[in-house]
Amino acid sequence: MQTIKNKSNEMLVADLKQMVAEERRLLIEVLHHLQEVEDRRLYLERGYSTLFAFATEELGYSEAAANRRIQAVRLMREVPEVEEKVKTGKLSLSVASQVQSFFRQEEKKRKGPISTSEKRDLVLQLEGTSARSCEKKIAQIAPEIKKPREKARPLTEATTLIQFVADKELMEGIEKLKQLLAHGNPEGRLALLFKKLVQLGLEKWDPVQRAARRRQKVSKPNQKSTPTSESKSRYVPAAVRDEVWQRDKGRCQYQDPATGKICGTRHGLQLDHTQPFAQGGSHDLSNLRLLCRRHNLLAARRVFGDHWIDSKIAKSRPNVPM
Ligand SMILES: [Zn+2]
Repeated sequence: MQTIKNKSNEMLVADLKQMVAEERRLLIEVLHHLQEVEDRRLYLERGYSTLFAFATEELGYSEAAANRRIQAVRLMREVPEVEEKVKTGKLSLSVASQVQSFFRQEEKKRKGPISTSEKRDLVLQLEGTSARSCEKKIAQIAPEIKKPREKARPLTEATTLIQFVADKELMEGIEKLKQLLAHGNPEGRLALLFKKLVQLGLEKWDPVQRAARRRQKVSKPNQKSTPTSESKSRYVPAAVRDEVWQRDKGRCQYQDPATGKICGTRHGLQLDHTQPFAQGGSHDLSNLRLLCRRHNLLAARRVFGDHWIDSKIAKSRPNVPM
């Protein structure tokens, strides 16, 4: 059997080229499979709140690698020519993903969708460029996208460096607060100021702290505020909501019946009635659970059907121009 060591130089390069072509072909297959997992919402079924969580946790991709592939899937969906360009190496995965995240930021800025033909034009312009020159080109088109990205970088176990861009309104607010709190923070240190704001925010929004305060109130005489679920209103009492939050530890409780995997994300949590309120479900603790937005939607699809849910979503979304 021929080993790498005794291949001729020509053969080594020729074989390598063939393998790279095969790698690209496989990459396209991977992208198609990811797209199908997304279409079937299979990542939700399997207990992941996003396709990204599925790609990193179940497939074992690094965050950057997962992100590049998912962005490329999204770009390929809208501009199908991208597939051929990736396959032939005219468009690298990292350029495709940069282009896609540029489109997303632009759409946010414009508060509306970019037409497919406009997207196709930019993809054509970026064909054959390296990741670095793609970055430069995008910076020329939209210089504001070059602004420093938000980050939180751990320095030691106990400290983190935080960086973000504040707009004029936020900066004016910060200056005003510095003056108001100058007695406790004469140097106007930002870290002290933000610590104070975070404490205030947690007192207001942390369900665990709210529930503890409520219990203190109940222990005082002449004040009744035990969690009640007898109301016929759609509104779930705050005390019940906070109890559910505490019981579910602030995490999505969706569980894949096949593998037993629990989603567990802390993002975008909503209160879900296991038996829907519209179908007579009560506000009892036993009928309530925390679900992330996407798993809540999946649960709603199971009860009300895709057709009804899709028509609701379509009504709230503007049309995409071609
Ligand atoms: Zn979830």
